[in-house]
Amino acid sequence: MDSKLWHTQLIDETLTLLEVQQDSGLHGGEVTQRREQYGPNELVERGLKSPWQILLEQFRETMVIVLIVAALISAVIGDVKDMIAILAIVILNAVLGFVQEYRAEQAMAALKKMSAPVVKVRRDGHVVEIKSVELVPGDIILLEVGDAIPADGRLINATNLKVQEASLTGESIPVEKATDPIPGGEEVPLGDRKNMVYLGTAVTYGRGSAVVVDTGMSTELGKIADMIQTVESEQTPLQRRMAQLGKTLAVAAIGIVAVVFVLGLLRGEDLAEMFLTAVAMAVAAVPEGLPAVVTISLALGAQRMLRRNALIRKLPAVETLGSVTVICSDKTGTLTENRMTVTVLDVLGETEKLETLMEGGFPIIDAEVSKDVAPPVRSLGLMVKAAALCNDAILEADMDRDGDMRVIGDPTEGALVAAAAKLGLWKEELDQRWPRVAEAPFTSERKRMTTIHRVNIPVDDPTDAPWRDSPYVAFCKGSVDGLLEISDRVWSGDEAVKLEADLCKRIQNANDELALDGQRVLGVAFRPLDELPENGQIDEALLEREMTFIGLVAMLDPPRPEVNQAVQEAREAGIRPLMITGDHPLTARRIAQDLGIIDEGGEVLTGQDLSKMGLDGLEEVVGHVSVFARVAPEHKLRIVEALQKQGQIVAMTGDGVNDAPALRRSDIGVAMGITGTDVSKEASDMIILDDNFATIVNAVKEGRNIYDNVRKFIKYTMTSNAGEIYVMLFAPFLGMPLPLTALQILWINLVTDGLPGLALAVEQPERNIMKRPPFPPDESIFARGMGTHIIWVGLLMGLLSLGVGYWGWSMALPAWQTILFTTLTISQMAHASVIRSSRDSILTIGLFSNLFMVAAVSLTFVLQMLVVYWPPFQNIFGTQALRPWELGLALGMSLVVFVAVEIEKWFRRRRS
Ligand code: ATP
Repeated sequence: MDSKLWHTQLIDETLTLLEVQQDSGLHGGEVTQRREQYGPNELVERGLKSPWQILLEQFRETMVIVLIVAALISAVIGDVKDMIAILAIVILNAVLGFVQEYRAEQAMAALKKMSAPVVKVRRDGHVVEIKSVELVPGDIILLEVGDAIPADGRLINATNLKVQEASLTGESIPVEKATDPIPGGEEVPLGDRKNMVYLGTAVTYGRGSAVVVDTGMSTELGKIADMIQTVESEQTPLQRRMAQLGKTLAVAAIGIVAVVFVLGLLRGEDLAEMFLTAVAMAVAAVPEGLPAVVTISLALGAQRMLRRNALIRKLPAVETLGSVTVICSDKTGTLTENRMTVTVLDVLGETEKLETLMEGGFPIIDAEVSKDVAPPVRSLGLMVKAAALCNDAILEADMDRDGDMRVIGDPTEGALVAAAAKLGLWKEELDQRWPRVAEAPFTSERKRMTTIHRVNIPVDDPTDAPWRDSPYVAFCKGSVDGLLEISDRVWSGDEAVKLEADLCKRIQNANDELALDGQRVLGVAFRPLDELPENGQIDEALLEREMTFIGLVAMLDPPRPEVNQAVQEAREAGIRPLMITGDHPLTARRIAQDLGIIDEGGEVLTGQDLSKMGLDGLEEVVGHVSVFARVAPEHKLRIVEALQKQGQIVAMTGDGVNDAPALRRSDIGVAMGITGTDVSKEASDMIILDDNFATIVNAVKEGRNIYDNVRKFIKYTMTSNAGEIYVMLFAPFLGMPLPLTALQILWINLVTDGLPGLALAVEQPERNIMKRPPFPPDESIFARGMGTHIIWVGLLMGLLSLGVGYWGWSMALPAWQTILFTTLTISQMAHASVIRSSRDSILTIGLFSNLFMVAAVSLTFVLQMLVVYWPPFQNIFGTQALRPWELGLALGMSLVVFVAVEIEKWFRRRRS
């Protein structure tokens, strides 16, 4: 069928064409067969590199090309030995680079796979959750608020369904969907095909189901995917700065190399030899590998984070995480466990514990008995019934380990369904007797939901009394404050009485008391209806008014045990945790106090307060208030903006559709892995798979560590390079011949430098990493003493090596150059080992606490010994076997570097 015409078909025609039954969906065999025919449901991705490409790229780097040219020139002038050596070094270097980059690429691909969305489909008669990529044409998909549409589909059902299609049509207002066929053929624009849903768009309201008509590259989005994918993947700030630094250093290097080259020629050195030396020096001075190292560290760091439940979606987030100064967190599910249990029911100040009601045998079930019980208790049954009906959770028959009933759906709703069941009211039965005919779904702006049910009066159910004379009844549950505003009556147990001020006060007091205890309180109300809204279109404002208030349900959601410590850790690290919740201010305050987010009596502001403030007022307030309650998603956005204006780096959590703008705006948008909608996940930089606040703090710690380690790598490489350059630059002034051969320089740079550098990238976090304030993200790479360190330690290394070399040369020792060469190499090993911590002594953190470093240093030492003692290598590198005391001299000089840096750290510790 021509994909352009699906919208003109009747639902039945579409289903027949696609050979699928609406209520059973496709069967296993059909799925397999279609999967083969249509392929996976994914957009063909460009830009992923094949291993060959990665390997080839290693040889395309400028530095490598320069070396290859140098090798060719060596060959031309007859120096085959040099040519082979240079090529061997180039290959070794390329292999090292390949392995690293390949690992980084794999890590990123794994991350991508993890964040692939899932979708609910009906197959073999059951609703199952599968990965979107497994969808085939003919699949029946179920859609709800926040879902990303996983393929193109023809709608079968649409209950208040609205879809945001901006990505496809440019229209920013969500489109209301319907299911009727639409006349007109191909000329009907996508935006007007109201009975279709398209890949790349998202549900912002309501729910529905659809049959998949096109998948993968055949979808409308697939057709334009080529256009979308041409965007280059963006560089992280650190990568950009590294690239910039590389360029600056390259220019400086050319200057220095020119000086050495000219000085050499003036002293009458051989032209060919000077040329090779110059090339080697250029290679030494230009830190070409820096951007690559940053990428690799970030990618591998992201993989480590994943092991601790933080899934990075955008690589720059790894960097930014380390600089976060404020973490704005939802309460429910992030700070708390999201395991709600109803504890107390209250009508008109008449409070009953659920437990007591269960023990006493809940009388309302028995119609005969219920006539004799007190009216308020009778209302309890009414309320529980309403709460279970105005509810999308599903109760599963079996119990979990704690003896709680298992529910599927929103935990708040689940708690209500479970409570009703404990009192003998089963949702399934209720749904049959009072079938739902329309609804206004929950939104976090209104903080309530309403459902309309047909009334089938059973002969003697006294709880039906309030609406006995109406064909329909609307049940509403939501925040108590809001519900009181739309109610004008209250159910006394026998009749609806006017909601006078004193009654209102009584309800509010009961609400406050429960909230003070940290409980989440929902109000329940009803309204008899004489008719359904016209053609099923619900206007919330018209429906949610003139309600009769019934009572309150309070539920407990315990704080997550690990959060207390995480809050403490964040505070010590100079990061302010902020709670932003839709819940009641008193509930919020209590939980925030329990978790240490605010002190007793700390200020709590509400969304209403915020609405009254201008940006200036808000800016002042966010500086010291840490708990915001009864906020709507739009307030989250304003809070982020105000914090950012103050110069804060903000991490913000969110799960709903409407949280997306705040997530995008924040420096680190954090989506919830379990409860988060697809829309929020797509807007985020990071997903916490366990919804846990503590995971964010862990990720910050990891982020800080990665940044630290990148800095250590830079510190190490640049100090080493500086040392070599000092040697080459100063030697002519001492009247010495060339202190290092070209091959020796290349050896140091491409082999002995590499391994310990990489070992620094996997160094453990410093002990004080969460005891220091965050660093500003735009601080110079060389900040905090790193620039000075590079200069003086480089100088020390250079002078020590040159010193022993000069002494050996003036004593006419045959191995003077090898002594110099070895001193330089080994003092670099010493340096790598000592800067593993920028503060603590290596003796404190343990010489063997980074086994990679131990291995790297040992291996490098062995390689160096081969170069010094193995005749074939001696031949290539122009080295001489060292006598034991000469080797001892090189080791001793390296120890000097080690001790000197330890002293530097000692001073640093003393200063702080
Ligand atoms: P957060 O996750 O932002 O900390 P929250 O879960 O408290 O907060 P929302 O889910 O927006 O925030 O809920 C806000 C309020 O809306 C709740 O305090 C409650 O009164 C009401 N509410 C929550 N869930 C439902 C629901 N399923 N039906 C009706 N009302 C609800």
